[in-house]
Amino acid sequence: MKQQTTQPMTEPVYTRAPYWQDVPDAKWMDWRWQMSNRLNTAVELEKVINLTDSERDALNANNLFRVDITPYFASLIDPDDPNCPVRKQVIPTAREMVPFQSMMEDSLAEDKHSPVPGLVHRYPDRVLMLITTQCASYCRYCTRSRIVGDPTQTFSRKEFDAQIEYIENTPQIRDVLLSGGDPMVLAPKQLDMILGRLRAIPHVEIIRIGSRVPVFLPMRVNAEFCDTVQKYHPFWLNIHVNHPKEITPELAAAMDRLTRAGVPVGNQSVLLAGVNDSVHIQRKLVHDLVKIRVRPYYLYQCDLVEGSGHFRTPVSKGIEIIEGLRGHTSGYAVPTYVVDAPGGGGKIPVMPNYVLTQAPGKVVLRNFEGFITTYAEPTDYDPHEIEAQDKLIARRPEPGQEGLLKLLDGEQMYIEPQGFSDVRARGGAEHRLRSGDIAQKWQPLGVGAIEQEQETKALEAPKEE
Ligand SMILES: *Cc1c(COP(=O)(O)O)cnc(C)c1O
Ligand code: SF4
Repeated sequence: MKQQTTQPMTEPVYTRAPYWQDVPDAKWMDWRWQMSNRLNTAVELEKVINLTDSERDALNANNLFRVDITPYFASLIDPDDPNCPVRKQVIPTAREMVPFQSMMEDSLAEDKHSPVPGLVHRYPDRVLMLITTQCASYCRYCTRSRIVGDPTQTFSRKEFDAQIEYIENTPQIRDVLLSGGDPMVLAPKQLDMILGRLRAIPHVEIIRIGSRVPVFLPMRVNAEFCDTVQKYHPFWLNIHVNHPKEITPELAAAMDRLTRAGVPVGNQSVLLAGVNDSVHIQRKLVHDLVKIRVRPYYLYQCDLVEGSGHFRTPVSKGIEIIEGLRGHTSGYAVPTYVVDAPGGGGKIPVMPNYVLTQAPGKVVLRNFEGFITTYAEPTDYDPHEIEAQDKLIARRPEPGQEGLLKLLDGEQMYIEPQGFSDVRARGGAEHRLRSGDIAQKWQPLGVGAIEQEQETKALEAPKEE
Protein backbone atom coordinates (compact mmCIF):
# COMPACT_ATOMS: atom_id res chain seq x y z
CA MET A 1 0.00 0.00 0.00
CA LYS A 2 1.32 3.40 -0.91
CA GLN A 3 1.53 5.76 2.04
CA GLN A 4 0.01 9.15 1.44
CA THR A 5 2.01 12.10 2.63
CA THR A 6 0.89 15.67 2.85
CA GLN A 7 2.26 17.93 0.15
CA PRO A 8 4.89 19.96 2.05
CA MET A 9 6.79 16.79 2.91
CA THR A 10 7.52 16.00 -0.72
CA GLU A 11 7.55 19.27 -2.62
CA PRO A 12 6.88 22.46 -0.71
CA VAL A 13 3.73 24.29 -1.77
CA TYR A 14 3.65 27.62 -0.05
CA THR A 15 0.64 29.81 0.43
CA ARG A 16 2.29 33.07 -0.53
CA ALA A 17 1.03 36.19 -2.31
CA PRO A 18 3.17 37.49 -5.21
CA TYR A 19 4.21 40.49 -3.09
CA TRP A 20 6.44 38.20 -0.97
CA GLN A 21 7.72 35.97 -3.76
CA ASP A 22 11.33 37.01 -3.23
CA VAL A 23 11.37 36.22 0.47
CA PRO A 24 13.62 33.17 0.97
CA ASP A 25 11.67 30.04 1.94
CA ALA A 26 13.54 29.71 5.21
CA LYS A 27 12.38 33.18 6.22
CA TRP A 28 8.85 32.66 4.99
CA MET A 29 8.54 29.51 7.09
CA ASP A 30 10.03 31.18 10.18
CA TRP A 31 7.24 32.17 12.54
CA ARG A 32 9.24 35.06 13.99
CA TRP A 33 9.70 36.54 10.51
CA GLN A 34 5.94 36.23 9.95
CA MET A 35 5.22 37.96 13.28
CA SER A 36 7.55 40.87 12.62
CA ASN A 37 6.31 41.39 9.06
CA ARG A 38 2.60 41.61 9.85
CA LEU A 39 0.43 44.10 8.00
CA ASN A 40 -1.46 46.67 10.04
CA THR A 41 -2.14 49.82 8.07
CA ALA A 42 -4.10 50.69 4.94
CA VAL A 43 -0.84 51.61 3.21
CA GLU A 44 0.72 48.22 3.94
CA LEU A 45 -2.40 46.24 3.12
CA GLU A 46 -2.83 48.07 -0.15
CA LYS A 47 0.42 46.49 -1.38
CA VAL A 48 -1.24 43.08 -1.26
CA ILE A 49 -5.00 43.69 -1.46
CA ASN A 50 -7.24 46.08 -3.35
CA LEU A 51 -9.05 47.74 -0.45
CA THR A 52 -12.62 48.98 -0.64
CA ASP A 53 -13.51 52.50 0.53
CA SER A 54 -15.22 51.05 3.58
CA GLU A 55 -12.11 49.06 4.51
CA ARG A 56 -9.83 52.05 3.99
CA ASP A 57 -12.09 54.25 6.13
CA ALA A 58 -12.09 51.71 8.94
CA LEU A 59 -8.33 51.20 8.78
CA ASN A 60 -7.82 54.95 9.05
CA ALA A 61 -10.28 55.41 11.93
CA ASN A 62 -9.25 56.05 15.54
CA ASN A 63 -10.01 53.67 18.39
CA LEU A 64 -10.33 50.72 16.07
CA PHE A 65 -9.79 47.23 17.48
CA ARG A 66 -6.23 46.33 16.61
CA VAL A 67 -5.36 45.18 13.10
CA ASP A 68 -2.46 42.83 12.40
CA ILE A 69 -2.33 40.16 9.71
CA THR A 70 0.48 37.69 9.14
CA PRO A 71 1.83 37.63 5.56
CA TYR A 72 0.88 33.94 5.40
CA PHE A 73 -2.77 34.59 6.31
CA ALA A 74 -2.94 37.70 4.10
CA SER A 75 -1.87 35.43 1.22
CA LEU A 76 -5.12 33.50 1.62
CA ILE A 77 -7.16 36.61 0.87
CA ASP A 78 -8.57 37.11 -2.60
CA PRO A 79 -7.09 40.56 -3.37
CA ASP A 80 -9.98 41.53 -5.65
CA ASP A 81 -13.01 40.09 -3.88
CA PRO A 82 -14.49 42.23 -1.10
CA ASN A 83 -16.64 39.22 -0.14
CA CYS A 84 -13.68 36.91 0.43
CA PRO A 85 -14.49 35.00 3.65
CA VAL A 86 -10.89 35.14 4.85
CA ARG A 87 -10.66 38.85 4.27
CA LYS A 88 -13.85 39.62 6.24
CA GLN A 89 -12.43 37.95 9.32
CA VAL A 90 -9.35 40.16 9.60
CA ILE A 91 -9.85 43.36 7.62
CA PRO A 92 -12.20 45.86 9.24
CA THR A 93 -14.95 47.68 7.39
CA ALA A 94 -16.93 50.72 8.42
CA ARG A 95 -19.73 48.39 9.57
CA GLU A 96 -17.56 47.36 12.48
CA MET A 97 -18.03 50.77 14.04
CA VAL A 98 -21.84 50.58 14.06
CA PRO A 99 -23.26 49.95 17.55
CA PHE A 100 -26.18 47.54 17.97
CA GLN A 101 -28.87 46.89 20.53
CA SER A 102 -27.66 44.64 23.40
CA MET A 103 -23.97 44.90 22.60
CA MET A 104 -21.60 44.87 25.54
CA GLU A 105 -17.93 45.32 26.21
CA ASP A 106 -17.67 42.07 28.20
CA SER A 107 -20.78 40.20 27.11
CA LEU A 108 -19.82 36.93 28.83
CA ALA A 109 -19.13 38.73 32.14
CA GLU A 110 -15.68 37.17 32.19
CA ASP A 111 -14.05 39.91 34.22
CA LYS A 112 -16.93 39.78 36.71
CA HIS A 113 -16.50 36.04 37.17
CA SER A 114 -12.74 36.09 37.67
CA PRO A 115 -11.53 35.41 41.23
CA VAL A 116 -8.16 36.87 40.20
CA PRO A 117 -7.39 38.92 37.06
CA GLY A 118 -7.39 36.75 33.94
CA LEU A 119 -8.71 33.56 35.55
CA VAL A 120 -12.35 32.80 34.76
CA HIS A 121 -13.72 30.08 37.03
CA ARG A 122 -17.20 29.56 35.60
CA TYR A 123 -17.67 25.81 35.61
CA PRO A 124 -17.15 23.55 38.64
CA ASP A 125 -14.07 21.61 37.52
CA ARG A 126 -12.21 23.77 35.03
CA VAL A 127 -10.85 27.25 34.53
CA LEU A 128 -10.06 29.55 31.65
CA MET A 129 -6.67 31.16 32.16
CA LEU A 130 -5.83 34.26 30.15
CA ILE A 131 -2.08 34.59 29.91
CA THR A 132 -1.53 37.17 27.19
CA THR A 133 -3.49 39.76 25.25
CA GLN A 134 -1.47 39.32 22.05
CA CYS A 135 -2.49 37.28 18.99
CA ALA A 136 -0.84 36.46 15.67
CA SER A 137 -3.61 38.29 13.79
CA TYR A 138 -6.81 39.87 15.08
CA CYS A 139 -10.33 38.59 14.34
CA ARG A 140 -12.76 41.44 13.89
CA TYR A 141 -15.48 39.70 15.96
CA CYS A 142 -13.18 38.81 18.88
CA THR A 143 -15.21 38.20 22.03
CA ARG A 144 -12.35 39.49 24.16
CA SER A 145 -11.65 42.69 22.21
CA ARG A 146 -11.94 44.61 25.50
CA ILE A 147 -8.43 43.42 26.40
CA VAL A 148 -7.06 41.59 23.36
CA GLY A 149 -4.55 43.45 21.21
CA ASP A 150 -3.90 46.01 23.91
CA PRO A 151 -0.36 45.58 25.26
CA THR A 152 -1.22 47.72 28.31
CA GLN A 153 -3.77 45.10 29.37
CA THR A 154 -1.24 42.26 29.38
CA PHE A 155 -1.06 40.16 32.50
CA SER A 156 1.78 40.84 34.90
CA ARG A 157 4.01 38.26 36.52
CA LYS A 158 2.26 39.03 39.82
CA GLU A 159 -1.15 38.31 38.28
CA PHE A 160 0.17 35.10 36.74
CA ASP A 161 1.43 33.99 40.16
CA ALA A 162 -1.99 34.78 41.63
CA GLN A 163 -3.66 32.65 38.93
CA ILE A 164 -1.36 29.70 39.68
CA GLU A 165 -1.88 30.12 43.40
CA TYR A 166 -5.66 30.09 42.96
CA ILE A 167 -5.46 26.86 40.94
CA GLU A 168 -3.12 25.29 43.51
CA ASN A 169 -5.55 26.14 46.29
CA THR A 170 -8.65 24.95 44.45
CA PRO A 171 -8.59 21.14 44.25
CA GLN A 172 -11.86 20.97 42.35
CA ILE A 173 -10.02 22.26 39.22
CA ARG A 174 -9.01 19.28 37.07
CA ASP A 175 -8.80 21.02 33.67
CA VAL A 176 -6.98 24.26 32.82
CA LEU A 177 -7.67 25.96 29.50
CA LEU A 178 -5.02 28.46 28.45
CA SER A 179 -6.23 31.25 26.23
CA GLY A 180 -5.87 34.98 25.83
CA GLY A 181 -5.10 36.47 23.45
CA ASP A 182 -3.19 33.56 22.11
CA PRO A 183 -0.86 31.50 24.32
CA MET A 184 1.04 30.28 21.26
CA VAL A 185 2.52 33.73 20.53
CA LEU A 186 4.35 33.68 23.85
CA ALA A 187 8.10 33.16 23.84
CA PRO A 188 8.65 29.38 23.77
CA LYS A 189 10.53 29.44 27.10
CA GLN A 190 7.70 31.30 28.78
CA LEU A 191 5.07 28.87 27.51
CA ASP A 192 7.23 25.96 28.66
CA MET A 193 7.47 27.53 32.12
CA ILE A 194 3.68 28.05 32.34
CA LEU A 195 2.91 24.48 31.25
CA GLY A 196 5.48 23.21 33.75
CA ARG A 197 3.95 25.20 36.62
CA LEU A 198 0.51 23.80 35.81
CA ARG A 199 1.72 20.22 35.39
CA ALA A 200 3.31 20.39 38.85
CA ILE A 201 -0.15 20.84 40.42
CA PRO A 202 -1.28 17.33 41.38
CA HIS A 203 -5.02 17.85 40.87
CA VAL A 204 -4.67 19.36 37.36
CA GLU A 205 -5.47 16.37 35.17
CA ILE A 206 -5.57 17.91 31.70
CA ILE A 207 -4.06 21.06 30.22
CA ARG A 208 -5.33 22.54 27.01
CA ILE A 209 -4.72 25.54 24.80
CA GLY A 210 -7.21 27.39 22.64
CA SER A 211 -5.26 28.99 19.82
CA ARG A 212 -5.65 30.44 16.39
CA VAL A 213 -1.90 30.44 15.79
CA PRO A 214 -1.96 27.19 13.79
CA VAL A 215 -4.33 28.97 11.38
CA PHE A 216 -2.59 32.37 11.25
CA LEU A 217 0.92 31.02 11.64
CA PRO A 218 1.20 27.28 11.04
CA MET A 219 5.00 27.63 11.10
CA ARG A 220 4.79 28.03 14.87
CA VAL A 221 3.71 24.39 15.18
CA ASN A 222 7.33 23.34 14.67
CA ALA A 223 9.27 20.42 16.15
CA GLU A 224 10.26 22.55 19.13
CA PHE A 225 6.62 23.32 19.95
CA CYS A 226 5.62 19.67 19.62
CA ASP A 227 8.53 18.60 21.85
CA THR A 228 7.50 21.15 24.47
CA VAL A 229 3.84 20.19 24.72
CA GLN A 230 4.62 16.46 24.67
CA LYS A 231 6.36 16.88 28.01
CA TYR A 232 3.09 17.88 29.61
CA HIS A 233 0.65 15.23 28.42
CA PRO A 234 -2.29 14.82 28.66
CA PHE A 235 -2.24 18.03 26.61
CA TRP A 236 -5.09 18.95 24.24
CA LEU A 237 -5.41 21.73 21.67
CA ASN A 238 -8.33 23.49 20.05
CA ILE A 239 -7.74 25.49 16.90
CA HIS A 240 -10.10 28.03 15.31
CA VAL A 241 -10.93 27.61 11.61
CA ASN A 242 -14.06 29.23 10.19
CA HIS A 243 -13.89 28.55 6.47
CA PRO A 244 -12.49 25.75 4.26
CA LYS A 245 -10.17 28.28 2.57
CA GLU A 246 -8.15 28.39 5.80
CA ILE A 247 -7.26 24.71 5.47
CA THR A 248 -3.97 24.81 3.57
CA PRO A 249 -1.13 22.33 3.05
CA GLU A 250 0.73 24.27 5.76
CA LEU A 251 -2.10 23.79 8.27
CA ALA A 252 -2.41 20.13 7.29
CA ALA A 253 1.32 19.60 7.86
CA ALA A 254 1.12 21.38 11.23
CA MET A 255 -1.78 19.17 12.33
CA ASP A 256 0.14 16.11 11.18
CA ARG A 257 3.11 17.06 13.38
CA LEU A 258 0.88 17.82 16.33
CA THR A 259 -1.23 14.68 16.18
CA ARG A 260 1.94 12.58 15.79
CA ALA A 261 3.07 14.20 19.03
CA GLY A 262 -0.04 12.68 20.59
CA VAL A 263 -2.06 15.88 20.89
CA PRO A 264 -5.80 15.46 20.31
CA VAL A 265 -6.91 18.44 18.23
CA GLY A 266 -10.37 19.99 18.03
CA ASN A 267 -11.78 22.98 16.19
CA GLN A 268 -13.95 25.85 17.38
CA SER A 269 -15.69 27.94 14.73
CA VAL A 270 -17.75 31.05 15.08
CA LEU A 271 -20.92 31.31 13.00
CA LEU A 272 -20.35 34.47 10.94
CA ALA A 273 -22.74 36.13 8.51
CA GLY A 274 -21.23 36.31 5.04
CA VAL A 275 -18.36 34.02 6.02
CA ASN A 276 -19.74 30.60 6.91
CA ASP A 277 -23.51 30.90 7.53
CA SER A 278 -24.29 28.18 5.02
CA VAL A 279 -24.99 24.46 5.38
CA HIS A 280 -22.83 23.67 2.37
CA ILE A 281 -19.84 25.74 3.48
CA GLN A 282 -20.07 24.19 6.96
CA ARG A 283 -20.23 20.69 5.49
CA LYS A 284 -17.12 21.29 3.44
CA LEU A 285 -15.42 22.84 6.48
CA VAL A 286 -16.07 19.87 8.78
CA HIS A 287 -15.12 17.36 6.07
CA ASP A 288 -11.86 19.16 5.37
CA LEU A 289 -11.16 19.30 9.11
CA VAL A 290 -11.59 15.58 9.74
CA LYS A 291 -9.35 14.91 6.73
CA ILE A 292 -6.51 16.65 8.60
CA ARG A 293 -7.52 14.76 11.79
CA VAL A 294 -9.09 17.74 13.49
CA ARG A 295 -12.39 17.03 15.25
CA PRO A 296 -15.04 19.79 15.03
CA TYR A 297 -15.76 20.66 18.68
CA TYR A 298 -17.92 23.78 18.93
CA LEU A 299 -19.77 26.05 16.54
CA TYR A 300 -20.35 29.29 18.44
CA GLN A 301 -23.15 31.74 18.01
CA CYS A 302 -21.48 35.15 17.57
CA ASP A 303 -21.34 37.01 20.90
CA LEU A 304 -23.01 40.33 21.69
CA VAL A 305 -19.70 42.09 21.58
CA GLU A 306 -18.81 45.51 20.25
CA GLY A 307 -17.74 45.40 16.61
CA SER A 308 -19.47 42.15 15.75
CA GLY A 309 -22.93 43.43 14.84
CA HIS A 310 -22.63 42.76 11.11
CA PHE A 311 -21.37 39.22 11.74
CA ARG A 312 -24.39 38.11 13.77
CA THR A 313 -26.97 35.64 12.46
CA PRO A 314 -30.24 34.45 13.95
CA VAL A 315 -29.87 31.38 16.20
CA SER A 316 -32.12 29.52 13.76
CA LYS A 317 -29.27 29.62 11.22
CA GLY A 318 -27.14 27.56 13.58
CA ILE A 319 -29.97 25.09 14.10
CA GLU A 320 -30.37 24.80 10.35
CA ILE A 321 -26.64 24.05 9.99
CA ILE A 322 -26.79 21.28 12.59
CA GLU A 323 -29.90 19.95 10.84
CA GLY A 324 -27.76 19.78 7.70
CA LEU A 325 -24.90 17.94 9.42
CA ARG A 326 -26.28 15.47 11.97
CA GLY A 327 -27.08 12.21 10.23
CA HIS A 328 -26.03 13.60 6.87
CA THR A 329 -22.38 13.13 7.72
CA SER A 330 -19.98 11.36 10.13
CA GLY A 331 -20.77 11.94 13.77
CA TYR A 332 -17.10 12.90 14.22
CA ALA A 333 -17.65 15.81 11.88
CA VAL A 334 -20.59 17.35 13.76
CA PRO A 335 -19.71 20.11 16.24
CA THR A 336 -21.91 21.11 19.17
CA TYR A 337 -23.63 24.40 18.37
CA VAL A 338 -23.57 26.66 21.43
CA VAL A 339 -24.76 30.06 22.52
CA ASP A 340 -22.34 31.44 25.11
CA ALA A 341 -24.81 32.96 27.54
CA PRO A 342 -24.78 36.77 27.68
CA GLY A 343 -24.26 37.67 31.32
CA GLY A 344 -21.91 34.79 31.95
CA GLY A 345 -23.97 31.60 32.12
CA GLY A 346 -21.52 29.64 30.00
CA LYS A 347 -22.03 27.66 26.83
CA ILE A 348 -25.57 26.50 26.17
CA PRO A 349 -25.97 23.79 23.53
CA VAL A 350 -28.75 24.38 21.01
CA MET A 351 -29.96 21.84 18.48
CA PRO A 352 -32.93 20.75 16.44
CA ASN A 353 -35.68 18.91 18.34
CA TYR A 354 -35.48 15.20 17.84
CA VAL A 355 -37.91 14.16 20.62
CA LEU A 356 -41.43 14.67 19.23
CA THR A 357 -43.45 13.49 22.17
CA GLN A 358 -43.49 11.12 25.16
CA ALA A 359 -45.86 8.98 27.20
CA PRO A 360 -45.05 6.50 30.00
CA GLY A 361 -43.12 3.70 28.32
CA LYS A 362 -42.74 5.48 24.99
CA VAL A 363 -40.63 8.13 23.34
CA VAL A 364 -41.51 9.27 19.84
CA LEU A 365 -38.47 10.47 17.93
CA ARG A 366 -37.68 11.68 14.44
CA ASN A 367 -34.44 11.18 12.53
CA PHE A 368 -32.57 13.55 10.21
CA GLU A 369 -34.74 12.48 7.26
CA GLY A 370 -38.02 13.01 9.05
CA PHE A 371 -38.59 9.29 9.68
CA ILE A 372 -40.67 8.99 12.87
CA THR A 373 -40.10 6.09 15.23
CA THR A 374 -41.05 4.92 18.71
CA TYR A 375 -38.56 3.82 21.32
CA ALA A 376 -40.28 1.46 23.75
CA GLU A 377 -38.86 1.97 27.22
CA PRO A 378 -38.33 -0.95 29.63
CA THR A 379 -41.19 -1.59 32.03
CA ASP A 380 -38.97 -3.34 34.58
CA TYR A 381 -36.05 -0.91 34.78
CA ASP A 382 -34.50 -0.78 38.25
CA PRO A 383 -32.52 2.41 38.78
CA HIS A 384 -31.21 1.02 42.09
CA GLU A 385 -29.41 -1.95 40.61
CA ILE A 386 -26.32 0.19 39.92
CA GLU A 387 -26.14 1.64 43.43
CA ALA A 388 -23.46 -0.66 44.87
CA GLN A 389 -21.15 0.07 41.91
CA ASP A 390 -22.05 3.74 41.94
CA LYS A 391 -20.95 4.07 45.59
CA LEU A 392 -17.45 2.89 44.62
CA ILE A 393 -16.88 6.05 42.59
CA ALA A 394 -15.60 9.05 44.51
CA ARG A 395 -17.92 12.05 44.41
CA ARG A 396 -16.66 15.27 42.86
CA PRO A 397 -18.30 18.09 44.79
CA GLU A 398 -19.67 21.01 42.77
CA PRO A 399 -20.39 23.50 45.54
CA GLY A 400 -23.31 25.71 44.58
CA GLN A 401 -23.32 24.50 40.97
CA GLU A 402 -25.20 21.21 41.16
CA GLY A 403 -28.00 22.79 39.15
CA LEU A 404 -30.78 20.56 37.92
CA LEU A 405 -28.81 17.47 38.98
CA LYS A 406 -29.69 18.36 42.55
CA LEU A 407 -33.37 18.15 41.64
CA LEU A 408 -32.91 14.85 39.84
CA ASP A 409 -30.84 13.40 42.68
CA GLY A 410 -33.68 14.18 45.06
CA GLU A 411 -31.54 16.50 47.14
CA GLN A 412 -33.72 19.48 46.48
CA MET A 413 -37.31 19.96 45.36
CA TYR A 414 -37.09 23.26 43.48
CA ILE A 415 -34.83 26.10 42.48
CA GLU A 416 -36.18 29.57 43.13
CA PRO A 417 -35.03 32.94 41.80
CA GLN A 418 -33.50 35.26 44.38
CA GLY A 419 -36.24 36.94 46.45
CA PHE A 420 -38.93 34.58 45.15
CA SER A 421 -40.60 33.91 48.53
CA ASP A 422 -40.33 37.55 49.60
CA VAL A 423 -42.24 38.62 46.51
CA ARG A 424 -44.89 36.00 47.22
CA ALA A 425 -45.22 37.21 50.82
CA ARG A 426 -46.29 40.58 49.33
CA GLY A 427 -44.94 42.46 52.32
CA GLY A 428 -47.52 40.89 54.64
CA ALA A 429 -46.71 40.65 58.33
CA GLU A 430 -45.90 37.39 60.10
CA HIS A 431 -49.15 35.59 60.70
CA ARG A 432 -50.31 32.38 62.31
CA LEU A 433 -50.02 30.33 59.12
CA ARG A 434 -46.40 31.20 58.48
CA SER A 435 -44.84 32.10 61.77
CA GLY A 436 -42.54 30.39 64.22
CA ASP A 437 -41.01 26.99 63.85
CA ILE A 438 -43.04 25.69 60.96
CA ALA A 439 -40.43 25.30 58.22
CA GLN A 440 -41.24 21.59 58.38
CA LYS A 441 -44.46 22.46 56.62
CA TRP A 442 -42.60 22.85 53.36
CA GLN A 443 -40.17 19.97 53.80
CA PRO A 444 -41.02 17.33 51.15
CA LEU A 445 -40.77 13.83 52.58
CA GLY A 446 -37.57 12.02 51.55
CA VAL A 447 -36.15 14.95 49.63
CA GLY A 448 -32.76 16.16 50.79
CA ALA A 449 -32.52 12.87 52.68
CA ILE A 450 -28.74 12.76 52.31
CA GLU A 451 -28.26 16.05 54.06
CA GLN A 452 -30.82 15.19 56.71
CA GLU A 453 -29.14 11.85 57.32
CA GLN A 454 -25.81 13.58 57.80
CA GLU A 455 -27.34 16.14 60.11
CA THR A 456 -28.96 13.42 62.19
CA LYS A 457 -25.66 11.57 62.42
CA ALA A 458 -23.89 14.75 63.47
CA LEU A 459 -26.48 15.27 66.21
CA GLU A 460 -26.17 11.69 67.38
CA ALA A 461 -22.38 11.70 67.48
CA PRO A 462 -21.19 11.64 71.11
CA LYS A 463 -19.79 15.02 72.02
CA GLU A 464 -16.55 15.22 73.92
CA GLU A 465 -16.88 18.05 76.35
C1 LIG B 1 -15.40 27.66 27.09
C2 LIG B 1 -14.97 27.80 28.46
C3 LIG B 1 -14.43 26.72 29.17
C4 LIG B 1 -14.28 25.35 28.55
O1 LIG B 1 -15.52 24.80 28.27
P1 LIG B 1 -15.63 23.34 27.66
O2 LIG B 1 -17.08 23.20 27.38
O3 LIG B 1 -15.15 22.40 28.73
O4 LIG B 1 -14.78 23.27 26.45
C5 LIG B 1 -14.07 26.91 30.46
N1 LIG B 1 -14.23 28.11 31.06
C6 LIG B 1 -14.75 29.16 30.41
C7 LIG B 1 -14.91 30.44 31.13
C8 LIG B 1 -15.13 29.04 29.09
O5 LIG B 1 -15.64 30.10 28.44
S1 SF4 C 1 -7.31 34.71 17.82
FE1 SF4 C 1 -8.94 34.50 19.37
S2 SF4 C 1 -8.35 35.97 20.98
FE2 SF4 C 1 -7.17 36.49 19.14
S3 SF4 C 1 -8.38 38.05 18.08
FE3 SF4 C 1 -8.98 36.05 17.21
S4 SF4 C 1 -10.76 35.43 18.45
FE4 SF4 C 1 -9.71 37.07 19.58
